[in-house]
Amino acid sequence: MARQSENWAPIWAGLAGLVLLVCGAPAWGWWAEGHALLTRAAVQALPAEMPDFFRQGGEAMALISPEPDAEKNRALPHLQNAEHPEHYLDLELLKGQPLPEKRYDFVKSCAEAGLDPAQVGLVPYAVAEWTEKLALAFAQHRRWPENTLVQAECLIAAGHLAHYTEDLCQPLHTTVHYAGRAGADGKSPRSGIHEKMDALPERLALDPQELAKGLVPVAADSLMPAILAQLRASNALVDSVYALEGELGNLESPRVRALITERSRAAVSFTAALYLRAWEISAAIELPDWLKR
Ligand SMILES: [Zn+2]
Repeated sequence: MARQSENWAPIWAGLAGLVLLVCGAPAWGWWAEGHALLTRAAVQALPAEMPDFFRQGGEAMALISPEPDAEKNRALPHLQNAEHPEHYLDLELLKGQPLPEKRYDFVKSCAEAGLDPAQVGLVPYAVAEWTEKLALAFAQHRRWPENTLVQAECLIAAGHLAHYTEDLCQPLHTTVHYAGRAGADGKSPRSGIHEKMDALPERLALDPQELAKGLVPVAADSLMPAILAQLRASNALVDSVYALEGELGNLESPRVRALITERSRAAVSFTAALYLRAWEISAAIELPDWLKR
């Protein structure tokens, strides 16, 4: 039997490859180097009022920023299940119904509308919650400015936050048409458009310094309203992405470069605005006495 299963091994491997070819790769979001370069640019865009260790931590944050995609791993079924919907929100499914401020109010509103929140997606809540996790880490930095464990906590939270802000600025992460125009059954046909878009910041080798140039990020003056405004702005570009569908593989196309540069700069400003917002929020956080570092 052992021999037989050994003989089957290459066939299974071939079949697995074929399944991947037919079904396409899973929707990961921007490729890892795309996330990394957008995160580097967001840190470069920060003003001097942000702490030095943070402004010098761009490389660490860039390395961390692809990690939420690594959490969608079949060997980690509970984490994979929780993590998958954190990367998108298919706005059209809500049919204009407003998004509540908080995660479990959203889950309740989905139940009332007969929607599955995991299918709709939860990226605005991932962005809001990671902004507040970063604010908590910043509050600890205000108390223990030299503590390197606290500094690492800030960089890790900021890397995660960057992932979700960057995904939200990819228009195909905000729509039912995420992988080809959805049909009457609501299913997106996996046309390959999503993978082409995800690859572009990395394939175009966008320069973080260029992306950050001229940006003057200001702290978002609210949290969820600012996130939802970005989500709508991203969703408003879905048609522009489809208008370029036939050109997305052409790295020489000026229209493709313009679209991806615009989305990348939107992601960079949005990420930097939330880093600034987290720093502001942190000034008002009272840490409990039992918290030690
Ligand atoms: Zn993602």
